[in-house]
Amino acid sequence: MDVLGFDLVCLMKTDVLIVGDGIAGLSSAITTRQKGLETVVLQPYSRPKDTFQVMLHPGVESLFKMLGVDQEVSCLAHSRPDGYWQYSTDGGGFVLYGQDTEGTWLGYLLNLRDLEALLRAKALGLGAIFMKTAGPVHAPMEYGTVKGLEIAGKHWGGDLTIDASGGRGILARDLCLKYLFGSPPLVATCASKTSSNPVSHPVFRMKPDGWRFDICTGQGQHSTISMAITAQKINPKHKSGWDVSWRYLPECAGPGYALVGDSAFRLDPGSGSGVLRAIMMGIKAIELSDKPYGWRLYRQWVSDWAHTDGAALASIYSEKPFNAAWPKSHRWSDVKLSF
Ligand SMILES: Cc1cc2nc3c(=O)[nH]c(=O)nc-3n(C[C@H](O)[C@H](O)[C@H](O)COP(=O)(O)OP(=O)(O)OC[C@H]3O[C@@H](n4cnc5c(N)ncnc54)[C@H](O)[C@@H]3O)c2cc1C
Repeated sequence: MDVLGFDLVCLMKTDVLIVGDGIAGLSSAITTRQKGLETVVLQPYSRPKDTFQVMLHPGVESLFKMLGVDQEVSCLAHSRPDGYWQYSTDGGGFVLYGQDTEGTWLGYLLNLRDLEALLRAKALGLGAIFMKTAGPVHAPMEYGTVKGLEIAGKHWGGDLTIDASGGRGILARDLCLKYLFGSPPLVATCASKTSSNPVSHPVFRMKPDGWRFDICTGQGQHSTISMAITAQKINPKHKSGWDVSWRYLPECAGPGYALVGDSAFRLDPGSGSGVLRAIMMGIKAIELSDKPYGWRLYRQWVSDWAHTDGAALASIYSEKPFNAAWPKSHRWSDVKLSF
């Protein structure tokens, strides 16, 4: 049964079909509704139980304005830091985000699930339709063009199908598209506690085998995100942490489809811009979709980004204290790097 209370078999046909209601899928849904396109968002029956605090790069502010949620997100944020402390084994200091003629750039500290709820409400308010689904996903094709999705025997038709399923990359899996990998296996974990000695600014500490990021979320709550470089294979079924190994999909768009957010391109949270990437890809995939061969432009745009940001973060990680564990030169490869 669907949320409408009856079984819909092959009845739903829409302009844009989005699978996944994380940050990337919701950003796409808001953008499509702003353009007046019919939009259906497929969401799982159960919501992720895990929740964590995130720090967002100041660059997201202009994206929140484009989505029409900048005021609401400012109210949601615990604080708007102007930078963070960064320490390595041989010292450290304060990293200021930056300044321009309008003042100092400010990031956002907030709860990721609260941000998702806000974007969901916005998309719903603009008229996006949300439906719950479960089961194996298949993308039917006609003359080389993806024509929506078949999920557990039901056909959901869409002129454009957006895969925003995050780490699962369901469309990539079904279409047998090949991810390129750019890091050793990386796993992230989160912990929260009450602290009588809260840090005023986030603190980023790099160690030879990973990093740790401490955030104060107000009212004495303290949240820690850690990332470890691991030699072990990460099994998503044994949830001891999130797989945050770098990966990127060269064929992240094609006739009738596009992948957005982590399902297209992921760096570990040390990049500090996963949410920014998810929003920007969500918007860009829609903006380019009405251009002739827009999917080619989107592919190129994601590729440029993956190569630039991958090389920039790799050059930081190849310095002390990570250098022993990190590959000497950065490249995206179809073999998972291990050491
Ligand atoms: C521990 C950790 C800390 C982080 N910290 C930061 C930070 O401080 N700053 C920052 O900018 N970024 C951070 N990130 C990265 C950021 O959270 C992600 O890049 C971003 O949330 C990706 O959004 P997404 O929508 O692409 O994917 P997701 O958030 O993974 O969303 C995918 C959605 O698709 C749904 N889905 C999957 N399969 C199906 C299906 N078959 N049918 C329907 N729905 C489906 C899932 O339930 C999920 O809701 C962090 C990530 C982790 C793991």
